[in-house]
Amino acid sequence: MLRLFDSHAHYDDERFEEEFEGGTRGALETVYNEGICGVLNVGANLDSSANSVRLAEQFSHVWAAVGVHPSDAQRLGMDRLNEAVDTIRTLAAQKKVVAVGEIGLDYHYDEIDKDCQAAYFAAQMELARELKLPVIIHTRDAMGDTLDLLARYPDVTGVMHSYSGSAEVARQLSDKGWYISFSGPVTYKNAAKVKEAAAIVPEDRILVETDSPYLPPVPYRGKMNYSGYMHYTLEAVAAIREKTPEDMAAITVANTCRLFGITL
Ligand SMILES: [Zn+2]
Repeated sequence: MLRLFDSHAHYDDERFEEEFEGGTRGALETVYNEGICGVLNVGANLDSSANSVRLAEQFSHVWAAVGVHPSDAQRLGMDRLNEAVDTIRTLAAQKKVVAVGEIGLDYHYDEIDKDCQAAYFAAQMELARELKLPVIIHTRDAMGDTLDLLARYPDVTGVMHSYSGSAEVARQLSDKGWYISFSGPVTYKNAAKVKEAAAIVPEDRILVETDSPYLPPVPYRGKMNYSGYMHYTLEAVAAIREKTPEDMAAITVANTCRLFGITL
C-alpha cells in the first residue's frame, strides 16, 4: 500500500454525505486506513471554508485551506467582497489552516464577470501576503490573465492545482518557486499536454491530488472520486517520470509537507 498525501479535496461536498458509506466521516476514516497519511480539504466559498476548518479540527490527518473560488466570487458579488475577505482572514487564524485557496479565475462558463473574479483573486492574494501563507490557484480557460495577476505578487507562491496548462508555463512557474499539482486527468488517454507537463516539473515542485469528489482517474471516470483512487494518478505520474510508485509517493508527500509547512 502506498503512503500518499491528497493535497486537494472537498470532503465537505454533499456527495460524500449522500453517496459514500458512512458519509464524510466514514470517507475520511476509510482513506486513512487505505494509506492516505494526509488530506488538505480546500474551501471554495465561506461555508466550505468553515467546513474545512471544522474537518481539520476533527481529524488528525486533515488540514484546511480557506478561500473563495472565482465562481463563488460571482455568486457573492462585489458588494460582499470586504466582508468575505474578513471572514477568510478570521478562519485563516485557526490552527491547521495552511493555505489561502482555492482562488483564481474561471472563464469556462457563460456569463462570467471577469472584474468580479479578478477583485476577489487580487484581494485574496493580498491576504495571503499579509498572512504569509501559500495560495492554491484554480485557473480554467484563463491562464494568461492568471499569470498576469500572479506577476503582481512576486512574493506570494503556492500551487497550481489540477494543472492543465502547457509544459512551458509549468517550467516558468516552477522556476519562480511554484508547485504544480496533477490530478485524475493525467491518467486520461487524450491528455498529452498534461503528461508533457508532468514529465518536466522539477522533482521538488510536483504534487498529486484528487480534487474529490471531482475528476476521478481512469478506471473510475464517471464515478465519484475519493482519495482511495489517488494511487492511479500517482502511478501514472511515476510511469511518465520513470520512477517507482514508492519513490514518487515519498517525493510528493515531502513536497506537500514542505509547501504547506505540515509535520506528519
Ligand atoms: Zn478544488
